[in-house]
Amino acid sequence: MEKTDIKSLYFSELEQMLGEMGEKPFRAGQIFGWLHQKLVTDFEQMSNLSKELRKKLLDQCRLTVLEPSQVKVSQIDGTCKYLFRLADGNVIESVWMKYQHGCSVCISSQVGCRMGCRFCASTIDGLARNLTASEMLEQVYRIQELKGERISHIVIMGSGEPFDNYDQVIRFLKLVSHQQGLHISLRNITVSTCGIVPGIRRFGEEGLPVTLALSLHAPNDEVRRTLMPVANRYSLREILAACQEYFEKTGRRVTFEYSLVKGVNDNSGEAKALVRLLRNMHGHVNLIPVNPVKERDFERSDKKAIQEFKGILEKEGIAVTVRREMGRDIQGACGQLRRSFLEGG
Ligand code: SAH
Repeated sequence: MEKTDIKSLYFSELEQMLGEMGEKPFRAGQIFGWLHQKLVTDFEQMSNLSKELRKKLLDQCRLTVLEPSQVKVSQIDGTCKYLFRLADGNVIESVWMKYQHGCSVCISSQVGCRMGCRFCASTIDGLARNLTASEMLEQVYRIQELKGERISHIVIMGSGEPFDNYDQVIRFLKLVSHQQGLHISLRNITVSTCGIVPGIRRFGEEGLPVTLALSLHAPNDEVRRTLMPVANRYSLREILAACQEYFEKTGRRVTFEYSLVKGVNDNSGEAKALVRLLRNMHGHVNLIPVNPVKERDFERSDKKAIQEFKGILEKEGIAVTVRREMGRDIQGACGQLRRSFLEGG
């Protein structure tokens, strides 16, 4: 019999499972606390449960715990990058960053990715598999334990497309924000998508006050299609309508991510087109100088081009920031550490 992934269960499911085992309902609260607040790594550590119950849990359940197999610490800004080994031998990466407002973790939602964005290292070998909610939680839990500091913010911007693993991502969000768990505010969580329209729509219906980030990267469909295959499926018109709907349903302003690639999407005409595209949107633009990936020949825009691009947006009243770069010396960008690991580098 397949063992139950106990860390992925909702509170009510845990109660039900324990009921079926003939246990009292209050056990659910105790066990949930051990799993999601005390962050234990072993059933043996659940010291207020009877030996018999711990044995039953061990027999029937799987306790997902991630082991870091590599940790890199940036000498520039203290950013840490973790390579975690999963039970099946796959590896994923997560990043810890310290800001004035708290500690933030960037987690992966899939092993690899099948979206095929041309500038991204995560997608080079395609998708291996989806992550479970417990594997997403563990990235946060283990890093908090290793750093010994409370994590206050989460971005789902590591490897993978969250809306390609929709159900587990929702489960993750509800568990990580649960009162009897780490209780991280949903307002401090960002989910980034390449623009899967049905996913955005459905996400808006969930009623979760999470920030949505859209990977825009181009001011029109033509340029976008050269960078992101998903642009062949959904037009910007549809995507932006879904983002506007998301804002109306949740009251959360959308973040538009725009990676600047030299000679591809960074000229002043493109900045002006972006202004026209976003003029009536409730959101702001986050410019990201593209991180060159060695398998691809994209180059980052010059400092001057970045400032000019930003200036045009600002002048036209579009809220814009240039992303502060973290962990540049430790392969901070999406999927780069995992790739170098897979290549034995
Ligand atoms: N699949 C989701 C989330 C993961 S990618 C998405 O597409 O949004 C997180 C962000 O990093 C996306 O905006 C993505 O386009 C960007 N990104 C990926 N590789 C990059 C690179 N080499 N340089 C700059 N940004 C990159």
